[in-house]
Amino acid sequence: MGEVCVRVAVRIRPLLPKEVLHNHQVCVRVVPDSAQVMLGSDRTFSFDHAFGPTASQDQFYESCVKPLVASLVDGYNATVFAYGQTGSGKTYTLGGGHVASLVEEQSGIIGQVAADLFVLLGERAADVRSAADVRVSYVELYREELRDLLELHTAHRELHIREDDRGNTVVVGARETVITSAEELQSVLEAGNALRHTGPTQMNERSSRSHAIVTVQLTQHNHDDGAVRSSKLHLVDLAGSERAARTGNTGLRLKESVHINTGLLALGNVIRALSDPHRRGNHVPYRDAKITRLLRDSLGGSAHTLMVACVSPSHHNVTETLSVLQFASRAR
Ligand code: ADP
Ligand code: MG
Repeated sequence: MGEVCVRVAVRIRPLLPKEVLHNHQVCVRVVPDSAQVMLGSDRTFSFDHAFGPTASQDQFYESCVKPLVASLVDGYNATVFAYGQTGSGKTYTLGGGHVASLVEEQSGIIGQVAADLFVLLGERAADVRSAADVRVSYVELYREELRDLLELHTAHRELHIREDDRGNTVVVGARETVITSAEELQSVLEAGNALRHTGPTQMNERSSRSHAIVTVQLTQHNHDDGAVRSSKLHLVDLAGSERAARTGNTGLRLKESVHINTGLLALGNVIRALSDPHRRGNHVPYRDAKITRLLRDSLGGSAHTLMVACVSPSHHNVTETLSVLQFASRAR
């Protein structure tokens, strides 16, 4: 094994009703029957997958994420992260928003991951004599400080990242909740979201400035030989990429921008180091930011990584879209 596997998908959301109302023009499209995206009329970018505004959550899940759930059950770690400017569809795609307000077919990949995971585990348990437990944790990384979103009493306390002697990354003290169904996962995440912010305006404000990480930890026990196999899948809703570039900020906003910039740059550098064939075996700069330290055992090595670059189709966002497409295409 040890083969590095980083895949990059781009998803272009539809114009929103208010953008249509204000006559926004579409400036980015998927080149038909390809995994390429064209910005304006002459700039193309290539990816592993490209989804246009009519692609459904199911289509996205089936082609990009389902294979990672299967490899999770086979014992491999995986990371899915959504990158893009605020309002580009990261939370919609991951499905970490206010789940209750969404109708069934709009529910994002988190719910589908859980549903599929329990189906696969059921099949496996029937095959080999095994039992599994699934635990979920939900943390937020804001200004390089890590907080637990599942623990009301300690949400104000900073968590620390450690590496155990087998090279596993552990968030010390993060609450892990056992789940036995997809519905349970949804309610755990909703509780976390409630902790993350109060009120819808603050939600968008805050969520654009922090990274939210849902971790599904799977432990499988084989009754025949007593073997225990652990693997995990991280689903990461990154801070808005526009924050990184923003200069003129001062005070708190400047500090936020610097931290976001550090995190997103570090992630880009790690992904590039992993996907560059000439750099294989060379130094991968995981230690440069908390986000890369946290994801370390699930990025590279035998882990599977999917980067989803989300973009708005509107010509008003063309500058951000260009920088996101450049970031994402450099990651391959
Ligand atoms: P982000 O998390 O990147 O800030 P959101 O996920 O909140 O962005 O999406 C912004 C808006 O666009 C929301 O109203 C969301 O429902 C809508 N949206 C995003 N992606 C899609 C999509 N693929 N289809 C329909 N609506 C979408
Ligand atoms: Mg969001």
